[in-house]
Amino acid sequence: MKFPKILFIIFSIVLAGCSNVPVTQQISETPKNVTIFKNTVVSLTFDDGAADNYDVRSILAQNDLHATFYVVSGFTGMDGYMTEEQLRGLYEDGNEIGGHSLDHVNLTEISGDDLKKEICQDYANLMDYGFRVTSFAYPFGHYDEEAKQAVIDCGYASARGVSGGPETIPPADKYALRAMPYIVNDTSVTKMMRYITSVEQEGGGWAIFVFHRVCDGCSQYTVDLDTFSKFAARIADQKQNGLVIKTIDEVINGK
Ligand SMILES: [Zn+2]
Repeated sequence: MKFPKILFIIFSIVLAGCSNVPVTQQISETPKNVTIFKNTVVSLTFDDGAADNYDVRSILAQNDLHATFYVVSGFTGMDGYMTEEQLRGLYEDGNEIGGHSLDHVNLTEISGDDLKKEICQDYANLMDYGFRVTSFAYPFGHYDEEAKQAVIDCGYASARGVSGGPETIPPADKYALRAMPYIVNDTSVTKMMRYITSVEQEGGGWAIFVFHRVCDGCSQYTVDLDTFSKFAARIADQKQNGLVIKTIDEVINGK
């Protein structure tokens, strides 16, 4: 394995040498395909609290990014879901933990005390874990006026749907945040980046991304770790061009 390593080193030196040559050019010219972001904010959100979501912790940290994890607190620690300790790890890194109901039920199919319990007990559970909780996401993106009111009454500062994005800042309705199209298992990094640049090109706004599982094709709504890793590096790299990446709480509460 020595030979390829040497090749790699030589290649790196050559590359470093090349990038040193046109320094003046880099400063004086903005490459044609670079977007300068003036009015675009990106939020990375993960729904459901699946165990594989924990795999992105180090990727987020390496790229100095913070995401919002909407957790179904009734599932926490169950097979296939993150444990309280894992949630705490994400939180301690600066990520946000939000609510996503107690049992991931369609909130339009329940009402009264059942509805309140799904939202308020979820909120209470997450607060009991020691998290500062302000953001909610409707399971399946489904809500009605009663569900919306319950989210407000339970103490949440915002609630996210799953479509209709990009959102405006401030949003038209904090309890009906509009998200970009679902990230599915064939959504490429290029396509995700295009979502962001087109928001900027159309005047700016808030691009809220909705991820679910993090795996290689374990369901339709997945991103594989390699794709997410590349996407995270790409958006982190765009910070130098003005791109802002914030959690939902940071945008809603003006941080
Ligand atoms: Zn969900």
